[in-house]
Amino acid sequence: MPEEIEIKPCPFCGSTQVHMRDMATFPYVFCEQCNAYGPSMETKEEAILMWNKANGVNADLLATCELAVTYIEDGAPQTAADRLRKAIAKVGDQEASE
Ligand SMILES: [Zn+2]
Repeated sequence: MPEEIEIKPCPFCGSTQVHMRDMATFPYVFCEQCNAYGPSMETKEEAILMWNKANGVNADLLATCELAVTYIEDGAPQTAADRLRKAIAKVGDQEASE
């Protein structure tokens, strides 16, 4: 048996109540807490990897968004816009390098 890949907590709500679904056809990761789900893939391993990757990207984006909100509240919307633009470009780079 290959080693089990760990499924990371839900990137949207942080829940650890995440499980595999449709194991017999195209498996995907499903969050019991907020009904979020990852992409359907050909294997369970791929589905978990995609879910875990989305997790990392979203955590990054979330942190940037939170930062941007504090900049806007402090009266520096231009700085907020710059930060967000960089974060968006970073996600684009990650998708392009697949
Ligand atoms: Zn969730």
